[in-house]
Amino acid sequence: MSTVLAFVEHEHGEPTETSLEAITLARRVATGTDSVLGAVAFGAEGAGVAEHLGAHGVEVVHHVEGSDDYAPQAWGEGLSELVSDLDAEAVVAPGSDRGHEVLTHAAAGQDLPMAANCTEVEVGETYELTRQRWGGSLVEHARLEAPTKLLTAAEHELPIEEADDATDPAVETFEPDLEDGHRRVSLDRLEESDVEGVPLGEARVVVGGGRGVGGPDGYDQLEELADLLGGAVGASRAAVNEGWRPHDDQVGLTGTKISPDLYIACGISGAVQHMVGCKGADRILAINTDPEAAIMQKAEYAVVGDLHEVVPELNEAIRGER
Ligand SMILES: Cc1cc2nc3c(=O)[nH]c(=O)nc-3n(C[C@H](O)[C@H](O)[C@H](O)COP(=O)(O)OP(=O)(O)OC[C@H]3O[C@@H](n4cnc5c(N)ncnc54)[C@H](O)[C@@H]3O)c2cc1C
Repeated sequence: MSTVLAFVEHEHGEPTETSLEAITLARRVATGTDSVLGAVAFGAEGAGVAEHLGAHGVEVVHHVEGSDDYAPQAWGEGLSELVSDLDAEAVVAPGSDRGHEVLTHAAAGQDLPMAANCTEVEVGETYELTRQRWGGSLVEHARLEAPTKLLTAAEHELPIEEADDATDPAVETFEPDLEDGHRRVSLDRLEESDVEGVPLGEARVVVGGGRGVGGPDGYDQLEELADLLGGAVGASRAAVNEGWRPHDDQVGLTGTKISPDLYIACGISGAVQHMVGCKGADRILAINTDPEAAIMQKAEYAVVGDLHEVVPELNEAIRGER
């Protein structure tokens, strides 16, 4: 019987949310191809994922040894060798940085194509895929034909679904044939972000500032507005590139994807790369001197004016209300 593998990222043996989303897609593929659903986990505590995956219908957890610390090429090689060993039907990884990086290395090792950010898969001899491109601003239908199909699941697009029948996953250890060169890049240390307050990705209100803010000091008023509303401050890439804000604050394609109830975009033009990061916002309020700015068409509310006048007035009005 063939195997469909889900690549599982974890923290001390507890699978990440996006890994559980990937398992939902892997289980659909396994059911459609009449395959065994397996999981593959790396790291010292990787075997610990087994106790969390029975509810998701995983039958075997393959714990790959040889590099406990994250090393993209070593993990990719480990996955590639496991794929060969099992002659796997498919591998589904979360659409996270690591999921993409490890699967890309495995694809290169096996000389296989890979399809990133899938939201739907129709199995058959050739897989019919629906996948996101351009940070989700474009949906693509594609066909994938390969002896082993390598897929990542678009983040936060699939539900975390438990299986109808729970399992009791067995744990099997796999030792790949690694060379020193595979560990050329490996995780050295982790540093906690020194950003205080509500994390950007979880904030219910985000006050974003772009090039129109004019400099680092201009953010004081935006910080105050965010504080008054219990929110967080974000920034456009232009502002980050200027060195006015840290990269942690960047919203967009190459920054954080936000999904607040309200996004207040100040002095931001609304470039597509910025908008894919805030399309999860329920409502956008744009403050811009240019009524023709792209963001004005995408916002539910727009104030045409200088943010250095509008934001202090807003702050005063909110303080007055209280
Ligand atoms: C591969 C790639 C990835 C990228 N990823 C990202 C990303 O993740 N996030 C991102 O943000 N960008 C990203 N970009 C850059 C993006 O294309 C834009 O260049 C950027 O978003 C522009 O930032 P901005 O809106 O702050 O600046 P601008 O486009 O210069 O806009 C400034 C706005 O401020 C307004 N303004 C000026 N003064 C005032 C004032 N006093 N009061 C009110 N309004 C004022 C202006 O009318 C204008 O609309 C990416 C680009 C590429 C090519």
